Amino acid sequence: MKIIPLKKWFENFERPLIIAGPCSAESRNQVFKTAEEISKLEKVSVFRAGIWKPRTRPNSFEGVGEIGLKWLKEVKEKTNLLISTEVATPKHIEICLKNPRIIDIFWIGARTTSSPFSVQELANSLRGVDIPVMVKNPINPDLDLWIGALERFNKVGINKLAAIHRGFYPFEKTNLRNIPKWEIMIELKRKFFNMPIINDPSHISGKRKFIFEISQKALDLNVDGLMIESHINPEKALSDPKQQLKPFELEVLLKKLKFRKSFEENEIFKNEMEKNRKKIDLVDAQLLDLLMQRMKIVEEIGFYKKKNKLTILQLKRWIKIIKTRTENAKKLGMSENFVKKLLELIHKESILYQEKIMKN
Ligand code: PEP
Ligand code: MN
Repeated sequence: MKIIPLKKWFENFERPLIIAGPCSAESRNQVFKTAEEISKLEKVSVFRAGIWKPRTRPNSFEGVGEIGLKWLKEVKEKTNLLISTEVATPKHIEICLKNPRIIDIFWIGARTTSSPFSVQELANSLRGVDIPVMVKNPINPDLDLWIGALERFNKVGINKLAAIHRGFYPFEKTNLRNIPKWEIMIELKRKFFNMPIINDPSHISGKRKFIFEISQKALDLNVDGLMIESHINPEKALSDPKQQLKPFELEVLLKKLKFRKSFEENEIFKNEMEKNRKKIDLVDAQLLDLLMQRMKIVEEIGFYKKKNKLTILQLKRWIKIIKTRTENAKKLGMSENFVKKLLELIHKESILYQEKIMKN
């Protein structure tokens, strides 16, 4: 994918880019008052507000529609904020384009990203349009689906693209509204080095009290920006009332967050880190070596089991392995859970090795 870095989208973009605004535009007054307060916070560059809202069930507030654009236009004229909104159908895009120079950035919602046909229709409507697009991750933790959506926009010529990480539907029990699965966002970044990643702590948290923690973690993972929901009167919000911050709470949050710098581009830090990085490289090589040695023994055991018609899984041995190794981990001061997960991964691979032997 050919991607233009975030810094080059607009002249004075700062990194990390802070996007803030209400979940939904509800009234002229609510939009304008929120924007006015937010624009006073120096760190916020982009205003967000949904005017078409994808809701899980009908009969909930589905957004104010086209009239919301007028309110966003006023925000644009009276503040220094850039404007972004969600588009989910070609009709939404048509309406936005018919009112030019209001929307600076489109974002694609998580439910839309989950549907390749919808994404393709949106991409077709945006062919030849020079407005950046930010694509939220799909509801399911499916990295390819996320990449696929980004690629569909890229293929019609949009190269001002960013990914918004808003977390995934929680199949596991969690305090958060959506599980972050940070490793998926890191893998996206590894595959597409230039892809800007914006974290959305509001939709990951679902509750105000977790927003700081998630935002700080995202910043420490070197994201390029944050999209945070903020509403002049969150308790009365027509959507997502529990996760929106009052503008002054947003101010407190932004002041409390630690914005650390990445040192990948800085020779001084890189040189100082070099000694320890070399040590890590060595340990990793030794780890791989040891794992390979272990797999060779696993293979030998596999041949023995095959010859003597023994099952692959020997439950008592497995229970003992987990018990002794996690006890050891505890003694060493390591997380027992981490060591258990690591062993499970190794054991899964060992079973695969022995299955192959049984088949041959
Ligand atoms: C939103 O940004 O308000 C929204 C609907 O988010 P998501 O698509 O991430 O659920
Ligand atoms: Mn929302």
